[in-house]
Amino acid sequence: MYQNNWQELEQKLFLRTFKRMPVTLVRGQGVWVWDDRGKKYLDFIGGWAVDSLGHCPPVMIKALEKQAKTLIQASNQFYTIPQIQLAQLLIQNSCLDRIFFCNSGAEANEGAVKLARRYGRLHLNGAYEIITTQSSFHGRTLAMTAATGQSKFQEPYTPLPTGFINVDYNNVGAIKKATSERTCGVILEPIQGEGGVNMPDDNYLKEVQRWCHEKGIPFILDEIQTGVGRTGSLFAYQQYGVEPDIMTLAKGLGSGVPIGAFLAKEHVSVFAPGEHGSTFGGNPLVCAAAYATVKYIIEHDVPGKVKQVGNYFMSRLNSLKQQFDFITDVRGRGLLIALEFDSEIAEEITMSCLERGLLVNKVKPDAIRFMPPLIINEEEVDKATSILENTLRETRSLKH
Ligand code: PLP
Repeated sequence: MYQNNWQELEQKLFLRTFKRMPVTLVRGQGVWVWDDRGKKYLDFIGGWAVDSLGHCPPVMIKALEKQAKTLIQASNQFYTIPQIQLAQLLIQNSCLDRIFFCNSGAEANEGAVKLARRYGRLHLNGAYEIITTQSSFHGRTLAMTAATGQSKFQEPYTPLPTGFINVDYNNVGAIKKATSERTCGVILEPIQGEGGVNMPDDNYLKEVQRWCHEKGIPFILDEIQTGVGRTGSLFAYQQYGVEPDIMTLAKGLGSGVPIGAFLAKEHVSVFAPGEHGSTFGGNPLVCAAAYATVKYIIEHDVPGKVKQVGNYFMSRLNSLKQQFDFITDVRGRGLLIALEFDSEIAEEITMSCLERGLLVNKVKPDAIRFMPPLIINEEEVDKATSILENTLRETRSLKH
């Protein structure tokens, strides 16, 4: 009896971690997904900023098919070609020199922190503390919960691992104040995604980088959400005039297959053999898919297109802001954008968009976020904007 009701079955079987939307998705194509009743949705969540090339992109299907017939998994005891090809592509197109592959964002950040701690042990007199910011998000492992500057994620799990200090975001003075002889790294998201699409001041990252250089501390950027084209350049750091010493990636890197990575400049690449590892990290199947994704993104100037369509989307949202006085802010870069309201109506707006066939994310009680596939075009942006406009009109009539 349960087989016909996936949602009821899920309620019985799963630990209650996810508050899912009442929809069972069964299929995706490009920027569209379908539920089990055949209803179609325009997807502006994109697998949570993951489906860079949209759903089931032909270039990935081809790469996955070919690799699935060739070699799926071999241990990191051996050299395998897809991971070396992917490494070369990422290193040639970034300011970093070396890479380690893993399976998720949290794991990439864990690796980056371990690397910074090794650097601290070897070059900073045993320094081990990492400075992070309030409203950040770095993942769900215990250490990354401590790194994530949001008490709602931390409180259920105290005592947390030590060695993390959360300071004000967008405040270089707070980082300076927190720096001590124990500091072995500063980790920041160039734009805070989960915290609400919080934009830094133009010179913030530059000033933090300058401070880190002055103190000889690794400057770490978590580009898990902002990287691989999302903000209109291959990596967000390129738009802020900085270069991280360590950078983490995941999400859009594999356009839907689970992969993470951290990259480092030569001078901080201090791991010795055996000091870090992973069974699945760099698996040939996911690396072939990620290689196809990144190659497509670079060869087709997807970041340039993201910039263009993102600006267009922003202009459409700004005209909605003119129309609806309860929109208080439109912010973001590329295709990572939030719309903020003057009250906690994000839940009802999200549900009303869902009803009308548009998937958007409630990022805060008073804000929604858009993170569609990077291949979205202006026509699809128009469709989404028009659904949103109808939703907002209904909200206004209920408000008054
Ligand atoms: N870092 C950032 C900036 C993120 O946005 C996320 C996920 O939303 C993570 C880390 C954690 O990634 P994952 O869920 O793959 O562990």
